[in-house]
Formats: sequence, structure tokens, C-alpha cells
Amino acid sequence: MNALVATNRNFRLASRLLGLDSKLEKSLLIPFREIKVECTIPRDDGTLVSYVGFRVQHDNARGPMKGGIRYHPEVDPDEVNALAQLMTWKTAVANIPYGGAKGGIGCNPKDLSNSELERLTRVFTQKIHDLIGIHTDVPAPDMGTNAQTMAWILDEYSKFHGHSPAVVTGKPIDLGGSLGREAATGRGVVFATEALLSEYVKSINGLTFVIQGFGNVGSWAARLIHERGGKVIAVSDITGAIKNPNGIDILELLKHKEATGNLLNFSGADAMDPTELLVHECDVLVPCALGGVLNRENASDVKAKFIIEAANHPTDPEADEILSKKGVVILPDIYANAGGVTVSYFEWVQNIQGFMWDEDKVNAELKRYMTRAFHNIKNMCQSHNCNLRMGAFTLGVNRVARATLLRGWEA
Ligand code: GLU
Repeated sequence: MNALVATNRNFRLASRLLGLDSKLEKSLLIPFREIKVECTIPRDDGTLVSYVGFRVQHDNARGPMKGGIRYHPEVDPDEVNALAQLMTWKTAVANIPYGGAKGGIGCNPKDLSNSELERLTRVFTQKIHDLIGIHTDVPAPDMGTNAQTMAWILDEYSKFHGHSPAVVTGKPIDLGGSLGREAATGRGVVFATEALLSEYVKSINGLTFVIQGFGNVGSWAARLIHERGGKVIAVSDITGAIKNPNGIDILELLKHKEATGNLLNFSGADAMDPTELLVHECDVLVPCALGGVLNRENASDVKAKFIIEAANHPTDPEADEILSKKGVVILPDIYANAGGVTVSYFEWVQNIQGFMWDEDKVNAELKRYMTRAFHNIKNMCQSHNCNLRMGAFTLGVNRVARATLLRGWEA
């Protein structure tokens, strides 16, 4: 199912549970602003190439709009819209004073050299610099982008507006980035998992985990799960999938990936069919890659007892229904992966204060925000007699609805 159709569907279910009126529902759903720009750059060989860049600013009732910029061949307007909307509910679930936005360029960053990526990022920034800002819309990394991308945006933006470190988060530490931001999404996933498991009198130690995706989020989640005694028995990335029923040594795997650029031929595990990964026997499945990977084709074969949605919208609504019927407990994306944007908020706060926190403080605050959000979601589940996804959606949507009503409608 299309990501936007799926996201709108979850929003409407939550809106119905909350009894929102139709005018408010419509106003919450329609994006504040949708930007589409052409980005033309010379390639290193002198030929010109054009890409389409998007920024969707979904809602700003609770504060500046916030969300990543994705470089991926599958970036399209519907996907960016869906992801922008998810950011609005995510920042509200985490209870940080932001709205939601998302951007992207439909390109394959692996096909571009470093200088081509720099030119593309600078051209994109030139096209949107008037519409982003410290108190309007604050971009961050997402799939295919990283701290270096943020450094280029910061530099280009500053040419027009003066030095403004708080205009992007997820920056390199040398340019005002926060300690702990790099690991934050993966660390947040682990704090969220611990909060969920404690409800079942379980802990990460001794449970088996399957992790789809070994980029920033997946590799940090795997490392922290491994550190806590969780057994990561299968991992995949775009280069392939590997398994070891006794648990993969994640620190060794990280060294192997660093040295070879892929997961295959790692001596501590066997290759496996990547399509098997999501239906592999395990306690906890952690999708950390693309959206829509759990769908009606594979959902009934999933054997995990818990799914932690580290990716954005990895489970489409048909799979959600099948998995719920099977009794699989799903920790939804707008909560499970909120650690990244939460530490982005800490980074923005530090930039505005001009005061740097140490890493222990960042991690302790992250844990506090993630644990508090989990209890807030549980309360919504109890009041509305619903699952964790609807608990998170009703929590987020209700906070944004309250802010919108308080601000009023008068022109
Ligand atoms: N791209 C991340 C997300 O989807 C982080 C966004 C941010 O830090 O603004 O949540």
C-alpha cells in the first residue's frame, strides 16, 4: 500500500478514536506547505544532470517543523508527504516542541561522487533557504544523507543568513553537532525496546534479535543490543543477509563492514536468503531499512513475538492487521525511532544556548524522554482500548489537535 494512503489511514483511525471534528481533522491532515524544486548540477565529467528535490512542511502548531532529508532513488512526493506527517506525530509523541517536515531528492547517492553530492546539496539549499530556518523548519539527516550533508547545508544557508548552526541538526561535532546524535536513533530504539520488554517482565539479555538494515540506525541498534547481552542471530543490508544461531559478534561484524563495505564473507556467520530474514525465527524483529517491508505477502509467516519499528512505516496496514491477529506486539515507528529527532532537539537547544552537554547527559535525557513517552502511550492505550500504534497516534494527534485549537482559527 502507498505510504501516504497508509499514513492517512492510521491518522483517521486515531482521529475517530479521539472524536475530532471533521474540520479539525482536515486541517491536521493537509500539509502546511509543499515545495518541489529542480536541482541541476554539472557532473564531474562536465555533463549536466537534473534531480527533483522536495520539502514537505506538514504542521507547525507545536513549534518549528522538523525532519530529515533523504537521498534515495525511491523518493517521491507521496512518500515525502507521508514521512513529513509521521514527523508531526513523532515530535508530539516525544513531547518536543516541534512540528513535522521531511525532504528528499530522488537520486542514488551511491552513483554520485563526493563533489557531485556537495554540489547537489548546495543547489538544493539555494532553492529552499528562504523557507527553512532556526524557528521555521530545521532539517536533519535521513537515509542517504549524513553529518557531512548537514555541514554543506549549514555552510550554504549561512551565506544567505549569516552563521546559523541551529538551522540543521545531526551536524559534525566540530560545527556544533551534539555528542550522542550519531547513535541516538539506535540508542532510542534500544531504550524503547527495554521499556516495552519490561511490561512483559523480560529484558534484552538472552532474547534473540533479527535486524534488517545495517546503516546508521541498524548498526547502532545491533551494537547496543549486543552490549546488553541480546543475541543478534541475523542481520541484512543491501549487500545481503547473514545468520548465526549462536549470535553474531557485532563488534567483529562492524570491523568487517568497515574493511570490506559489505556483510558478506564474514567468517562469524553464514549467508542467508535476504527474503527469509523477516520471517526468520526470533523473539524480536527490528526492521531498520525501508518502508512497507512487512506486507500481506510475508506478514502471516513472521515468527517474531515483538516487532520494533526502527524504520519509518515498515509495516503496511494489511500486515498490521495480520500481525495483530497473530498476537505479535508492534512498537510503532513514531515512537520507536523517535530517539534521533529527540537528540536533534537537544542539539538545537545546545546551539541556541551556546552551551555543550556531555554525552552522559544527552543519553540520560534521551532515556528519560523515551521512557516517559512509552508511559504516555500506555495511558492512551488504556483510555482508548487500543494497540500501541493507535496509542502512539492518539497521543501525538491529540497533542497537535490541542495546540491547533488553542492557537485558534481566526484569520
Ligand atoms: N530522519 C530522522 C527521523 O526520521 C531524524 C529527523 C530529525 O532529527 O529531525 O526521525
